[in-house]
Amino acid sequence: MDAHALQRALQALGLYGGRIDGAIGPQSYAAIDALLERNDARVQSGWRRWGPARRRVAGEQLVMWSVGIEVGVIDGLVGPQTRFAYDAYRRHIQGLAPDTSRDLLMLPQVHDSRFPDPVKTTWPRQNEVTRHYGAVGQNQAMLQLPFQMRLAWDLRTPITRFSIHEKAHDSAARIFGRILSHYGEAEIKRLHLDRFGGCLNVRKMRGGSAYSMHSWGIAIDFDPERNQLNWNRTRAHLARPEYEAFWRFWTEEGWLSLGKARDIDWMHIQAARL
Ligand SMILES: [Zn+2]
Repeated sequence: MDAHALQRALQALGLYGGRIDGAIGPQSYAAIDALLERNDARVQSGWRRWGPARRRVAGEQLVMWSVGIEVGVIDGLVGPQTRFAYDAYRRHIQGLAPDTSRDLLMLPQVHDSRFPDPVKTTWPRQNEVTRHYGAVGQNQAMLQLPFQMRLAWDLRTPITRFSIHEKAHDSAARIFGRILSHYGEAEIKRLHLDRFGGCLNVRKMRGGSAYSMHSWGIAIDFDPERNQLNWNRTRAHLARPEYEAFWRFWTEEGWLSLGKARDIDWMHIQAARL
């Protein structure tokens, strides 16, 4: 991996405060060790006895894994899988579409004993939501977030919990846990997944007479500023490859992304089918 790219990634993860000069010295190595330490359970055991060159490769593998690139075992060795990952990461930082033709970007599987398996749920269709969920604004529960979010239009306002329909609560709680487990807090911030754009909001759909899915507290918006309503996948940040795991956690539990389904409103996820 290019040394500048490695330093930039370590900086983005909040581990490196030095200059981006492409010289991997003691400060860069300290950041790499901190990254390995933080992900100790994912790194092949015995890494503390490895030499600096191997620890550096292991750090690069973790950097690539953290953006959703499949790197195989984090072992500090450059095999075919790691070489493919380097190529995928180069494309990633250049903002290019993933080369899926070679299966470069297979998503890492999450094995975390803190979270049970996803529960595949068949949510009601949009025209059945009143029958399934009841009247708008009713039957709400409070979801405690496992990481702190901030109100998207007033970043000084912390969000630690929000109101959501009681039937969607447990599923959303599992998914937020997985998001934290997969990305970690620093990456969540960097990707703006901590920008809360609202959940329960009793209102009519824009330009229509029907209620928005937000009216039942069964839709959540993320990072509205960088995923505006009419933006398609060429502009919306949430359409980028680093969010594939985020979307997978929702869709595994049956939630519907309007971005994925219709290429609009990428900020939005809902517990109702079209
Ligand atoms: Zn929405």
